Formats: sequence, structure tokens, C-alpha cells
Amino acid sequence: MTRILVVEDEPGIALGLEDDLTMEGYQVEIAADGVTASRRAREGNFDLILLDVMLPGKDGFEVCRELRRGGLRTPILMLTAKTQEAEKVMGLELGADDYVTKPFGTRELRARIRALLRRAAGEPENAPFCFGEVEVDFERGELRRQGRPVDLTPLEFKLLGLFIRSRGRVLSRERLLEGAWGADTFASDRIVDNHIASLRRKIEPDPANPRYLRNLRGLGYRFDG
Ligand code: CA
Repeated sequence: MTRILVVEDEPGIALGLEDDLTMEGYQVEIAADGVTASRRAREGNFDLILLDVMLPGKDGFEVCRELRRGGLRTPILMLTAKTQEAEKVMGLELGADDYVTKPFGTRELRARIRALLRRAAGEPENAPFCFGEVEVDFERGELRRQGRPVDLTPLEFKLLGLFIRSRGRVLSRERLLEGAWGADTFASDRIVDNHIASLRRKIEPDPANPRYLRNLRGLGYRFDG
């Protein structure tokens, strides 16, 4: 049986996660503070750790750093707060494998968990990637939104792939041009912006106020999925 350690101090969220993951067939244990989490993660022989950042005792970053320093290889999925942009990158730098942003949907969380478990088992990483209402299937070259297929041009698909692989990091227009159009392109920054606007219309709940494909003035774009 696949064992998951859920580290979360808010009882409502922890119980919700326990219910949901138990129904999915996982065996779940809850730790409500950083010190217990750190101990149980080492003793408990878990297949995956869901780790909240804001915790009493030791925060999720400290727990993550400590576990990785101690040589623990168990996949860690961090639960980060939407308002704290820096948390995502920081978690990854400290050795977390992935993150989901609160509030998250159960479908998204389940998909991320399955993807991490597959990766840990050495299976290919081409599994569909989910964010919000969107599911991207790289193997089949398809994107679905609320379960319905959405047409993407090959360039849009390439751009989205670049963003997903660099989640949480800023990509300059130059880098995007090189990655999607190729190093010898004559395309301009304006073309990048146009394609991103079009991509936003297909993936953003409110394209005028993008939540996933963020523009950082003077720097480029960042995907916060
Ligand atoms: Ca918390």
C-alpha cells in the first residue's frame, strides 16, 4: 500500500486531505507540526510527503532542508500559499520535488501525487500535467479544459511546455523566442506577447487578469501553475 505523510497543522485541511487520499486508496498519516513531521518522515517509510509551509515548531522549509540533508529521498510535494510567490522557488531549491498552491483542487492534487509517485518509481514523466481546470497531455499533444479539448497551435504548445518545465521561474522573451521559435528566429518580442495573449485566452479563467501566465515588467513571463 502506498503510504503518504500529510504534514498540515490546520485540522480542517488535514482531515479533508486524509479523507480524499484514503478514498484514493492511499494509507495516510497526519503530522500537525514540523518536529513530528521530521521525525515521522524518517521513521515511517513513506512513499510521499505532503508538506505544508506554515507550521508550528519548524516550518516546511526547515523540515524539507533537514530531511534532504539527512539523505531522505522520499518525494516531497509542498503546499504553498498563493500570496507567497517566493515560497515555490525556495521549496524547490531546498529539495522539494513539486508544489501545489493553496487553495488547490483535489483533482490537481491527485494528479500531482500520481505524477510524483510515477517519477519515483522510474516511470516516464510524460504524464498529463494539471493546473486549475486545465490538463495538458504532452504524450498526445492535447490540452483539455474542464475535460473539453482546446485547440492549441504547435507554437502555443511549445510555449506552454517551456513554461511548465520552468514553473515558478521567470523566462525572458529572448529565452522564449529561442525555446519555441529556435535560435535563428527573426521573430520579435511583440510576437511572443501576441502568442502569450492567445495562450492566455485558452488557459486563463480571466485572461485580462492572468493567474497562471504572469507578466513581470522588464523581465518576461512566469508560469505559476
Ligand atoms: Ca499551515
